[in-house]
Amino acid sequence: MRLDAAIAAATERLRDASESPRLDAEILLCRTINMPRSYLFAHPEDELDELTLARFEDVLERRETGMPMAYITGTREFWSHEFAVSPATLVPRPETEILVNLAICEIPRDAEWEVLDLGTGSGAIAVSIACDRPLCHVTAVDSSEAALAVARENARGLAPGNVTCELGDWTEPVRGRVFDLIVSNPPYVRSDDGHLAKLRHEPQDALVAGDDGLDAIRILAADCGALLADGGLLLIEHGADQADAVAGLLREQGWSNIACHRDLAGLPRVT
Ligand code: GLN
Repeated sequence: MRLDAAIAAATERLRDASESPRLDAEILLCRTINMPRSYLFAHPEDELDELTLARFEDVLERRETGMPMAYITGTREFWSHEFAVSPATLVPRPETEILVNLAICEIPRDAEWEVLDLGTGSGAIAVSIACDRPLCHVTAVDSSEAALAVARENARGLAPGNVTCELGDWTEPVRGRVFDLIVSNPPYVRSDDGHLAKLRHEPQDALVAGDDGLDAIRILAADCGALLADGGLLLIEHGADQADAVAGLLREQGWSNIACHRDLAGLPRVT
């Protein structure tokens, strides 16, 4: 089969599974033949051999089941870096770049802050902050050893030297330490949220946080204060409809200067 015919057929097959079927087909094919995407356009008449077609079929089948592209290719761009991801980690979302941006705006360029990222997953937040503020030291915590292995790989590749990964539940591995800034993109989806069906390939414990989606944020609100230096800052990502509830939880735990920031769609997403 020719390259152009393979792309056309794959595009049709991915119509139900993807909002960008042609782009996905092209990316999956150029990764299968290990060539840049431009090659597909320069050599549409190239013939695919049986073995290559079988390998292409294999990735197409996975994409047809709704598996995110990032899990098939093993990478996702975030904050202009290419991160390794695996089904043990959430796929980094563009909205989360707001959290990274807020963190970086708070950290002066010459500051040597201790920064903590709770529930780091692939390490996208921790490593992005570490890249832009190399004088800081970022501690990245996750309760999943499989996720932490991905975070370690990303730290080694992108910010060697200023990220340390720690295994454990929320603040448990860093008790007694003091940080200038704590960031977190915790699970915050309600257990009955209809969107979860579309997210079934991602780790559910990184997404779901009890009946109201606030179980993890309750823990952060209760436990992070003891870890912050005077004047320290906590930044939490949450759902667009959770800003008032998150502010309420923080107030109950004695937090002050509580403010919510909007994402590029104008939705309140980081408190
Ligand atoms: N923003 C993600 C989603 O709705 C959820 C991420 C999270 O729970 N931390 O897909």
